[in-house]
Amino acid sequence: MKKLNSYKQFYLIFLSSLLCIEASAQTSNNVFQYSVLPALQSGNFEGDFSINELSKHGNFGLGTLNHVDGELVAVDGIFYRISEKGEVNVLPGNSRTPYAVVTFFEPDTSRKIAGSFSYTELHSLLDTLIPGSNSAFAIRIEGTFSHMKTRSIPPQQKPYKKLEEVLKSQPIFEFEKIKGTMVGYRFPPYVKGVNQPGYHFHFITEDRKSGGHVLDLKIADINAEYARQNNLQISFPQNKDFMEIDFSELD
Ligand SMILES: [Zn+2]
Repeated sequence: MKKLNSYKQFYLIFLSSLLCIEASAQTSNNVFQYSVLPALQSGNFEGDFSINELSKHGNFGLGTLNHVDGELVAVDGIFYRISEKGEVNVLPGNSRTPYAVVTFFEPDTSRKIAGSFSYTELHSLLDTLIPGSNSAFAIRIEGTFSHMKTRSIPPQQKPYKKLEEVLKSQPIFEFEKIKGTMVGYRFPPYVKGVNQPGYHFHFITEDRKSGGHVLDLKIADINAEYARQNNLQISFPQNKDFMEIDFSELD
C-alpha cells in the first residue's frame, strides 16, 4: 500500500513537471500585441485593454497608455509609465492601453558590448550579432550609457490629432553617464502595417525614476540579451473608434 502511494506520488510529480515544461514552452518568447501601429498613428488613443490583461501575455515590453499619456515600459514583470515630465510611476492594473507589445522574455543569447557606439552604430552591431532578419527578436540591454536621449508624450484630448502631429511637441529628456535598461524589439520588414519594422526601444533608469522612448544614445558598457520570437499574436480592439478608422488611406 505504501509502495503504491509513493508510486502515485512520483507519477503526479512527473505529470505536473511535464505540464510545467509544456506551459513554459507555450508562453515564452511569443510576441503579443494589442492593436496595430497604424491605428495609434491615426489617432486611436483609447483602448479597452487593461494592464492586468496585458500582464497575462508578457512581463517585458513597451507601448503607451490611453490618451497617449506617457510611454509604457514593462521590465521584470513590472509595468511602468514615464510621464510627459519624465517621471516614473508603477501602473495600476486597471490602467488601459491603446497599443502595447509584450513577451514573456527568456533570452537565449547574451553579449557584452563596450565602446563608444552611437544608436545607429548599435543597430548595425546588433544586425551583425543577431542572425535572421526575417525573424522577430526581443532585446534587453542593460548597462551604462555615456549619453541617452529619450522622449515621452503629453496626454491628448479628443478630437485626437495624428500621432505625427502630437510628436511635434514631444518633451525630450537627456541623461549623461546613466545606468539603466533598454527594452525593445527588432521586427522584420514585413510587419509594416501591423508593427514597426526595425528597432524600437524604451529606456528606464536603474533607479526606475526616469526614462522614455529612445531617440539617441552613446554606449559606454552594456550587456545585450536577446531571444528569437516564435509567434506574433494580435488582439484587435473592439471599440467603435477603432472600427471607424479608414485603413485603406494608410500606405
Ligand atoms: Zn516607443
